[in-house]
Amino acid sequence: MSALTSDEVLEEGLFRFEGVDELKSSWREGLRPDPFMTVSGWADRHRMLAARASAEPGRYRTSRTPYMREIMDALSPGSPVQRVVFMKAAQVGATEAGNNWIGFIIHQAPGPMLAVQPTVELAKRNSRHRIDPLIEESPALRDRVKPARSRDAGNTMLSKEFNGGILIMTGANSAVGLRSTPARYIFLDEVDAYPASADDEGDPVTLAEARSLTFSHRRKVFLASTPTIRGLSRIEREYEASDQRRYHVPCPECGVMQWLKFERLRWEKGRPETARYHCEACEAPIGEHSKTAMLQEGEWRASATASDPATAGFHLSALYSPAGWLSWQAIARAFETAQGSDESLKAFRNTVLAETWVETGEAPDWQRLHDRREQWQAGSVPAGGLFLTAGADNPEGPH
Ligand SMILES: [Zn+2]
Repeated sequence: MSALTSDEVLEEGLFRFEGVDELKSSWREGLRPDPFMTVSGWADRHRMLAARASAEPGRYRTSRTPYMREIMDALSPGSPVQRVVFMKAAQVGATEAGNNWIGFIIHQAPGPMLAVQPTVELAKRNSRHRIDPLIEESPALRDRVKPARSRDAGNTMLSKEFNGGILIMTGANSAVGLRSTPARYIFLDEVDAYPASADDEGDPVTLAEARSLTFSHRRKVFLASTPTIRGLSRIEREYEASDQRRYHVPCPECGVMQWLKFERLRWEKGRPETARYHCEACEAPIGEHSKTAMLQEGEWRASATASDPATAGFHLSALYSPAGWLSWQAIARAFETAQGSDESLKAFRNTVLAETWVETGEAPDWQRLHDRREQWQAGSVPAGGLFLTAGADNPEGPH
């Protein structure tokens, strides 16, 4: 019996009485067991990318960002993984993968879900710009979701109801939102931008994850973030406690599998267009045109033993960004442009390399600072200036 689908059960004539059509439809809509379909399989079949939310509108293809397949499939009901940790660069397709998971849940494995953004404001924006198009553009989802409405008096939550489940979206700055309801699925997005405490009630990640405990082994938690500062970074702490998977790709020359490291991207100083990736086994320079094939033949390999075997950790830099998104040449150029500014170098490490930034914690001594003075005419901005800021300090103290 258990091998039959709900449709087959109905077709077998096990339910033959008046009102069978109604029963059929409620069975299909609400009582459907978790299928064996994977999130990536679902996305390739049902996900449409909206023109207003995506640079590449049309049908979603997992083959465009093949490294996302294993991450999405760890979020599928058939996987024993319960917690997925993704320490990532910008521009690798992580947001769409998270949206695929949401779509899959609505369509195939309904249940209560909590999706947390750093703030309530960001949750509202995400709902409008990401979740609404996700639902509107995919026919499989459109009919299943009731129109959005805001809940609770404080309006700190947004929700979408669907057959067999509800998606609640809130911010990590709202303890009310995080305590809302038990949730089988928890999506914690950009956790490094979360406040240390939600309304003085404690760590927002802990508060949110507590919502899922009643679902024990059937729960899924997805933590994703671009990292920030070493020691403060939640995603780095989570990744380091995980099995630390890296995406290994084959060298097109010698075939040796390796994960991509920034120090092996080399170019002539001042000429980022000469950037090539150098194989760590044979030193062959690899051009951008080889990237697509390398990504397709890649595989995730763990490099540590997780303290919790139900947690899978993934790390991905923008060196893996697919052709047409962020090229190796653009990365080389961004690195050259960032030189001389700690703020720019930090942004480069965080958003391109997906690595934390180490704060030196010491201001330069006054003589070094004094030596770096430059002469500018008052009221003028030097060429190339993007951001104006000012600071002052009085080392003598008040007079
Ligand atoms: Zn090689």
